[in-house]
Amino acid sequence: MPIHVLSADIASKIAAGEVVERPASVVKELLENALDAKASEINIRCLEAGKKLIEVEDNGIGISGEELPLAVLRHATSKIEQAEDLFQIRTLGFRGEALASIASISRFTLTSRTAEMEYGTRLEVEGGISKGIRILGAPFGTTVRVEDLFYNVPARQKFLKHDQTERQHIDQVVANYALAYPQVKIKFFQEGREVLNTSGNGNRLEVLVSLLGVDTALKMIEVMFEDNRIRISGFISPSHLTRSNRKDFHFFINQRPIQDISLGSAVMQGYQNYLMVGRYPMVWLFIEIDPQEVDVNVHPTKAEVRLANPGWLFSQVQHAVRRALMSRSPFPEVTSNSGWEFPVVQPSVVRTVNHPEPAELSEQDKYHQKVITPTERIPLLRVIGQVASTYLIAEGPDGLYLIDQHAAHERVLFEKFIRQAPDQISSQNLLEPVIVEVTASQARMLEDQLPFIKKLGFDVEIFGANTFQIRSIPTLVKGLAPEAAFRAIIDDFEEDETPLQRELLHKLIARICKRAAVKGGQVLTLEEQRALVLDLEACESPRTCPHGRPTMIHLSVDLLERQFGRRGAI
Ligand code: ADP
Ligand code: MG
Repeated sequence: MPIHVLSADIASKIAAGEVVERPASVVKELLENALDAKASEINIRCLEAGKKLIEVEDNGIGISGEELPLAVLRHATSKIEQAEDLFQIRTLGFRGEALASIASISRFTLTSRTAEMEYGTRLEVEGGISKGIRILGAPFGTTVRVEDLFYNVPARQKFLKHDQTERQHIDQVVANYALAYPQVKIKFFQEGREVLNTSGNGNRLEVLVSLLGVDTALKMIEVMFEDNRIRISGFISPSHLTRSNRKDFHFFINQRPIQDISLGSAVMQGYQNYLMVGRYPMVWLFIEIDPQEVDVNVHPTKAEVRLANPGWLFSQVQHAVRRALMSRSPFPEVTSNSGWEFPVVQPSVVRTVNHPEPAELSEQDKYHQKVITPTERIPLLRVIGQVASTYLIAEGPDGLYLIDQHAAHERVLFEKFIRQAPDQISSQNLLEPVIVEVTASQARMLEDQLPFIKKLGFDVEIFGANTFQIRSIPTLVKGLAPEAAFRAIIDDFEEDETPLQRELLHKLIARICKRAAVKGGQVLTLEEQRALVLDLEACESPRTCPHGRPTMIHLSVDLLERQFGRRGAI
């Protein structure tokens, strides 16, 4: 094929792909435009996860009738004029390509009226082709309607995820801007249902309350850190309020939500010694610095930024987090555990299980402390004691076994769980039902999944708006705080896009077991140590925890002899 210039139509669809990845990208761009237009009230409506309709209505400065056609032209913007402006950006938009992109891949309607106009004007565009402008009565401000997104880009449609996932992305975008702009009243509906409604009174904590619920929001620690070059404010969770993923790491630079992995690491360093392994805090940090310190013109979506002094910002964030944490609790809190109870075992039953001897290890293996391959049973063990309140030492027919008490207990609980018939997981009524508040998007998801959650032994009911009542929990996790167990499930649903699968059931159970299992650092009586090892011996796959990590290390007699120079030479 000879080289030729692409048609404007194809070029604009390619460019649109960079800006509009999914419905949430449209919501983001329209919301940014409304905020740049100084709106004090914004209403957002989405239908079918934004695929059928996204409508954003604002009471901002509006667009005049003459300028309406310009607004949807590529590289047409009112926000910058010259190249130097790129280093002084104080608006969310500046590239002048969002409306052009969106209008080229949807049925697009832009209605607007400025304070000077007696009536409004409306421009309609379909797949990038203008359908004309007309005059009509309209309120001050701008309303953008985006219908049938991607209707002319079937390839993009295919890449969209489950509606639930797309809705979560939209929720996230709106939540972030609502927090960044607490002085703006934002009302947000998905599928006709109110997801968020902020008062616009400027109180950021109030917005957080409407997102997380009162209980959780009020547990947050406030961050306030200021010097002449920087201001960092926001909220971070105390060390007992954590998640299993980084989904609630939110960073804003000059009121723009941004993604920056290094800031996440800065936060984790700030939390050093305050968190258990594998747990992540919830963090909303609003950083204000001179616009010259940040280059936002790195990527079409403007979510990634380049910092003039990344190392400096990193240490400021780490410091701000640390200081806030210390103000709440001067000493790290990780040693506290969740009131775990040891399960009762009947040794006689367990002892009847037949244990094959471990397979022969290769010579090479014998030279190293070797993690034994999974799927093998373990021999009968004699418990000797506990080391560092974390590992159990046991003697077997061939040497020593070092057992990770947490991993081992996870395995034990997991197998007990899955051995129960799926419909008969036994559950235990709580003396007092526990009320748990969740975010609107979590509530929507949980409502869909209630029958499935019941199968796991949780008796959970809708209690009110975004509130659930837990009346019973699986017997196997009876020592665990019901709320913690319930939140473990929410974490999993949020990560998995195709729930109701068998693997998910196992994943969920593994997650609950992880929470319920005895922790490292917890002192166990000899009785408890023995009971745990007995239980482990009875497991089908005792050598790994449900997540695949080893539960034990075997130091064979042979290895010991070699290490002590009793046999052969090393
Ligand atoms: P950018 O925001 O990068 O300038 P957009 O394509 O998003 O580019 O918007 C193009 C222009 O249309 C903006 O510069 C602004 O002048 C105008 N505009 C878009 N949305 C609004 C709105 N909600 N209110 C007022 N003006 C708007
Ligand atoms: Mg814009």
